[in-house]
Amino acid sequence: MQPASSQRTYDLVILGGGSGGYACALRAAQLGLSVALVEEDKLGGTCLHRGCIPTKAMLHSAEVADSVRESHRFGVRASLESVDMPALHAYKDGVVARLYTGLQGLVRSAKVDLVQGTGSLRSATEVQVGDQVLTGRHLVLATGSYARTLPGLTLGRHIVTSDGAMRLEQVPQRVVVLGGGVIGVEFASIFTSLGSQVTIVEALPRLVAGEDEAVSAQLQRAFRKRGITTRTGVSLERAEEDDDGVSITLEGGESLRADLLLVAVGRGPRTEGVGLAEAGVHLERGFVTTDSRLHTSLPGVYAVGDIVPGLQLAHRGFTQGIFVAEDIAGLQPAPIQESSIPRVTYCDPEIASVGLTLAQAEQVYGSVSSYEYNLGGNGKSQILGTAGFVKLVRVDGGPVVGVHMVGSRVSEQVGEAQLIVGWEALPEDVATYVHAHPTQNEALGEAHLALAGKPLHAHG
Ligand SMILES: Cc1cc2nc3c(=O)[nH]c(=O)nc-3n(C[C@H](O)[C@H](O)[C@H](O)COP(=O)(O)OP(=O)(O)OC[C@H]3O[C@@H](n4cnc5c(N)ncnc54)[C@H](O)[C@@H]3O)c2cc1C
Repeated sequence: MQPASSQRTYDLVILGGGSGGYACALRAAQLGLSVALVEEDKLGGTCLHRGCIPTKAMLHSAEVADSVRESHRFGVRASLESVDMPALHAYKDGVVARLYTGLQGLVRSAKVDLVQGTGSLRSATEVQVGDQVLTGRHLVLATGSYARTLPGLTLGRHIVTSDGAMRLEQVPQRVVVLGGGVIGVEFASIFTSLGSQVTIVEALPRLVAGEDEAVSAQLQRAFRKRGITTRTGVSLERAEEDDDGVSITLEGGESLRADLLLVAVGRGPRTEGVGLAEAGVHLERGFVTTDSRLHTSLPGVYAVGDIVPGLQLAHRGFTQGIFVAEDIAGLQPAPIQESSIPRVTYCDPEIASVGLTLAQAEQVYGSVSSYEYNLGGNGKSQILGTAGFVKLVRVDGGPVVGVHMVGSRVSEQVGEAQLIVGWEALPEDVATYVHAHPTQNEALGEAHLALAGKPLHAHG
């Protein structure tokens, strides 16, 4: 790690070295700005150490277990002996460690001063870290988020958040996942593949409630087929841990017994104890509010990442960090369109979407139509043995404003979907592009062909 230089005045002082903070630091350094990046834990933040990367490594192990278990479907005889949790963790931790080393090297070679310690705001230009004061022409707040729990729930050996679920020594037999959002369904998928019996309890009427309704319904069907029990529209009343597990009571009195209760009820902003309100930064329910250029209410102070209301995604943090660096350097970047940020949920089946759901598009545009291309007509999806669809939402006579996909590996299609929505393409425009056969990507092309009135492997 680079020691803080003796110079303590910078163009930019960034509080928090996660996705938003380090992306901002790297871009600012590229643009010739001097940067101090304050981090109290590990450079890389939630995404690298407790979020995106470790969970996706676990999901990959889960996929391997499923492939072995289902190998007979593809004419291959193999049997799954067991899941070796220490080895799974070693694989996951190895991936994280390699990326961490690479990131440290990037920050070092960019000549960003990485200051290790807990920082707090003293004013619009000063950050206190221990007994040092770092002065910045601009400050960027990027302190990220933490896993929320519910009042009355005490975390322990059998009641954990995603942080604890990544360090289990054994595969739990029975798991109750509290919360059917992105993190909840990803872990439900992991545990099921590793051999647990999983029940998801969700207070809202459907899983992944931020997604298009058709996607939620398809996921729920697919989860049912995988043996996952889903209890929607019901809240937790209480949960009590004992030596062997946890007893859970749902609203209405029904009780469940589990070896593990995973609490996945969302992530709160890490904005307490950082001196924000005291310095004059406006907060709403703990989040830092900004304008479209990510300025906070305090002049010269920006905020990026999970502390800013909106999608809590690493790539949004990266993009916001880059935006702020460019704004400070005077490049006048165009504001980020939150609605064209791609969203992926990496459970099995995967969900990938960008733009408006059908219900949202109806509200915004009034006259819209949608088309669902079933993966049953897509050769590669049949080869993989996956079910699902690509759903397009278009303004009548106008562009595609939403793409919603569900099925194995559909995350890989989100790049093209993003270009379509971001560039406000007409289905007729996309229909002129040739999609390679047999790929799952073809399903995206076929959906546009159908919406343009010339379906190929689909009914009109
Ligand atoms: C289980 C899980 C899975 C996820 N999967 C995905 C995924 O697949 N794709 C995706 O896009 N997103 C995913 N996310 C979300 C993603 O991790 C976050 O959106 C992203 O990390 C937010 O970046 P950030 O910079 O705002 O905050 P963080 O990454 O949380 O970084 C904030 C940093 O600030 C530091 N810090 C906080 N306070 C201080 C202080 N006072 N002084 C010094 N340092 C401080 C923290 O130590 C931390 O390192 C996942 C999250 C979780 C929990």
